[in-house]
Amino acid sequence: MKGLIDTHCHLFEPVYDDVRDGLMEQMRQNGLYKLICVGCEPETVKQSIALAEKYEYVYVEAGFHPCDTADISDSMWEQMKKLIAHPKVVAVGEIGLDYHWESSPRDKQKYWFEKQLAYANEAGLPIVIHSRDAMEDTLEIIRKNPPPRGVFHCFSGSVETLREILKMNFSISLGGVVTFSNARRVVECAKAVPEDRLMLETDSPYLTPAPHRGKVNRPDYTRFVAEKIAEIRGVTTDEVIEFTTRNAEQMFGI
Ligand SMILES: [Zn+2]
Repeated sequence: MKGLIDTHCHLFEPVYDDVRDGLMEQMRQNGLYKLICVGCEPETVKQSIALAEKYEYVYVEAGFHPCDTADISDSMWEQMKKLIAHPKVVAVGEIGLDYHWESSPRDKQKYWFEKQLAYANEAGLPIVIHSRDAMEDTLEIIRKNPPPRGVFHCFSGSVETLREILKMNFSISLGGVVTFSNARRVVECAKAVPEDRLMLETDSPYLTPAPHRGKVNRPDYTRFVAEKIAEIRGVTTDEVIEFTTRNAEQMFGI
């Protein structure tokens, strides 16, 4: 049995600064098999790569988050491309559009989404999409330059949208939201998604699953997501771990 993979977490949020090293050891003991740490600008990508060089079970996802696209200079982009070439960087992400916070202008978000998508396609890397209140525009940009492989992280769309992205060959990853009592739409998707298109994530330190809501999330809490999805699908937790781990290994080549 290989164990759980958290395909999306942010370990360089300051909340982990005093506890990160201890956490890295504990998580392995708690059955976490691998994790993918996200860097949303060059600094956190560098930190994530250093962590991946230290711990074999850590991999990296690198790209400018849509909320961080307001002021990207040419030199920042050159730096990001160099970092993406590191062998432990296994995806370009999280890239996409966020019209909920709108902390960057929409035209900048679109520009950088298209540019990073094209770069990932050229580099042969899967993309990890962040799309919030922006599904129509997200799909329009993807259709112009469809990637061979990709995943919608923390997918929160309807079952209809799920069917549409499955046709475009995408997978989804689900996290703690599936355990929330008001998460009907996400639960429907957790049930409807085919076994070979689902992966697990935590989006730590955010979106902490029940029964730990209100506390800081951590990658080994992927277990609670797996347990809830098993309950929703009427299968065992071990089965969920087995197919989601297989999917993540194939998607990211890890
Ligand atoms: Zn994230």
